[in-house]
Amino acid sequence: MASASSMPPTDQDLKRLLECSICLETFDDPRTLPCLHSFCKKCLENFVDGKRDDELNCPVCRGKFTLNEEGVAGMTRNHFICNMVEVLSIQDQDKCIPCSHCDQSSVGRCVTCELFMCDKCLQSHNGYIGFRDHVVLTMEELSQPENRSKIKGKSYCKKHPSKKLKLYCETCEELICTYCIVFEHVRLDHVCCTLEEIAERKRGELKTICQTLENNESHSTRQYDELAATSFFLDKNLKEVKSHIHKRKNNVLKCTKNVLEKKAQSLIKETENIARVKNRTIDEELKRISDHKAVQRKAYDIAKALIENGSNEEIMLSHKSVQQSVEKSEKGYEIKEIDDKVIGKVTG
Ligand SMILES: [Zn+2]
Ligand SMILES: [Zn+2]
Ligand SMILES: [Zn+2]
Ligand SMILES: [Zn+2]
Ligand SMILES: [Zn+2]
Ligand SMILES: [Zn+2]
Repeated sequence: MASASSMPPTDQDLKRLLECSICLETFDDPRTLPCLHSFCKKCLENFVDGKRDDELNCPVCRGKFTLNEEGVAGMTRNHFICNMVEVLSIQDQDKCIPCSHCDQSSVGRCVTCELFMCDKCLQSHNGYIGFRDHVVLTMEELSQPENRSKIKGKSYCKKHPSKKLKLYCETCEELICTYCIVFEHVRLDHVCCTLEEIAERKRGELKTICQTLENNESHSTRQYDELAATSFFLDKNLKEVKSHIHKRKNNVLKCTKNVLEKKAQSLIKETENIARVKNRTIDEELKRISDHKAVQRKAYDIAKALIENGSNEEIMLSHKSVQQSVEKSEKGYEIKEIDDKVIGKVTG
């Protein structure tokens, strides 16, 4: 936008300005919304078709607009946009311009008469002595960007069709002709000036607007860049924090694993100790039972031998010692209860 107020628009700028953002072609009979976005009449009709809302939204900026009972056809035609579309089509030489006198296609334009003319009409125009100083340009010459302003004619007063709109009434805010200023916009009540004067002033105002917009643009560009940078750093930060959390999680997992490992090791050791103590008790008890069994077995063997082979004397002499041995062994023998649980003692 930096060049907007200082340099004339290039053909590319102009083409972009005259491109419909719905069909991407140069405007065809354009209509302009309050937000200054323009669209082909047909494209806009397709866009609003079937929408019943009182308030519609611009397809580009969503700015609100309303339709009157005439629909899209009744919407504002932007004079400048419509003129530039026609200028562009003449420049691109993609449209036949009919002769102002007959229906033949034009080969040039008399800038003084402000008329397009076919070959035949142009020749007779050039034949008149009174038209000798008229400026005539061929279509080829008209297609040059520097001749852009020569394509469009001056505007004429609607009330006085033969008179050009050369004046401006500031009180009524309208372009007027020399008849209007005499009959309707009388000097004392109406402040009037020439078209050149007011156009120069408005051109100045537009330059100020452009300057303000340029400043706004650079301000919003700066804001945009700052916000984009913030967003970038936010993303970067997010990545860093996520990776930090992952690392911490892994560290905690490692530490917890170590602690658990140690705890398990110590529990195993403790369990083994308890089992060892219990085993010792059991071994001692096994030994005692086995000793007891050996004593009893001995007594049994002797008693059996006495019954089978002993003489009466021998029975009488030995039976007491057998009885005493059995009694003694019975007396000292008592089965101990041994707890077979090892784990319960540790984990419980
Ligand atoms: Zn379109
Ligand atoms: Zn818009
Ligand atoms: Zn003609
Ligand atoms: Zn002429
Ligand atoms: Zn007039
Ligand atoms: Zn007036």
